[in-house]
Amino acid sequence: MNDPVSEELRGVVAGPVLLPGDAGFADEVAVYNLNNYLEPAVAVGVTSVADVRAVVRLAAARRLPVAVRTTGHQVAQHAGGAILINTSRMDGVRIDADARTARVEAGVRWSAVTAAAAEYGLAPMSGSTLSVGVVAYLLGGGQSPVFGRSQGYAADHVREIELVTADGELRQVTAADEPDLFWALRGGKGNFGVVTAIEFDLFPVSEFYGGGLHFPGERMASVLRVWRTWALTLPEEATTSVAVQRLPPIPELPEPLRGAFVLHVRFAFLGSTEDGARLLAPIRAVTAAILDDVRTRPYTESALIHASPSTGTSASAPCCAATCG
Ligand SMILES: Cc1cc2nc3c(=O)[nH]c(=O)nc-3n(C[C@H](O)[C@H](O)[C@H](O)COP(=O)(O)OP(=O)(O)OC[C@H]3O[C@@H](n4cnc5c(N)ncnc54)[C@H](O)[C@@H]3O)c2cc1C
Repeated sequence: MNDPVSEELRGVVAGPVLLPGDAGFADEVAVYNLNNYLEPAVAVGVTSVADVRAVVRLAAARRLPVAVRTTGHQVAQHAGGAILINTSRMDGVRIDADARTARVEAGVRWSAVTAAAAEYGLAPMSGSTLSVGVVAYLLGGGQSPVFGRSQGYAADHVREIELVTADGELRQVTAADEPDLFWALRGGKGNFGVVTAIEFDLFPVSEFYGGGLHFPGERMASVLRVWRTWALTLPEEATTSVAVQRLPPIPELPEPLRGAFVLHVRFAFLGSTEDGARLLAPIRAVTAAILDDVRTRPYTESALIHASPSTGTSASAPCCAATCG
């Protein structure tokens, strides 16, 4: 990146413009999977729609590639030579409790939406980890470990997408106004522009019955044999998945899981504690779990179903209640 371009960027955006080696550049391009990386020519911390439009217009005029980072949970390409737009400063969240919708700016993570919606007894179709960005999750389809089977893909509950397209124009995209673009965006990820805001449905849910059961690796075959037929019998209000995990011996994990080889059965049920416990009974009956934390809990604790770490990692380590998100 030649200096004139970064100087030009500084002249048209309000947020920081950072080059490799600058203080703060590493944070601006940080990613979740520590085995991966982003290496743009310049990083721009956009603060508004006007900033996004200015960057896209300048990039188009100089014929430079544009990449977008919100949380860095998914690196599709390394963004070599690109202007990287970091949306994380665009963090506005607006809940319309009557319409049961949320409208969020591009940099918002699911943790902010679940907390804001919970104040009204509402919940979004968030994913397994609340540190994931809302926009890219929804653009990719969005499969919720709580709502997945009863409501389908989260992208099917999007109402409006605000987008800056490659010509630098700002578009309000809805099923009625721009049906083709609306269709393409919901599954087409970041291929059609830079999303600056998105509006989607919320659901009247404040708690659920769920969590995870960690079984000893040696009993995996017995548990999986029951799980594969049991899962087919569950009502749509229940969602389950499994993970085989060789856990690292780190202090962030509860003692019995440190260094353990386990089968992690995840379960979520939108219904009463009694019905949830009854549904889960066949799995609990297979063998004693090392750890069973399935119970009725607030939706804001939904990240404890998968218990993935919320911050950058290079290992498949689940988190505990204190660090999960
Ligand atoms: C631990 C973990 C748990 C997950 N759980 C689930 C789950 O339960 N269900 C599910 O469906 N998915 C899940 N995912 C996948 C996740 O939804 C995607 O990886 C998502 O793309 C992450 O978005 P991000 O903004 O956090 O990450 P980023 O890496 O910041 O962005 C991801 C991609 O989206 C593009 N992008 C980001 N913001 C914009 C924007 N404003 N406009 C245009 N393009 C943009 C970026 O260019 C990048 O290519 C999970 C991922 C991880 C790492």
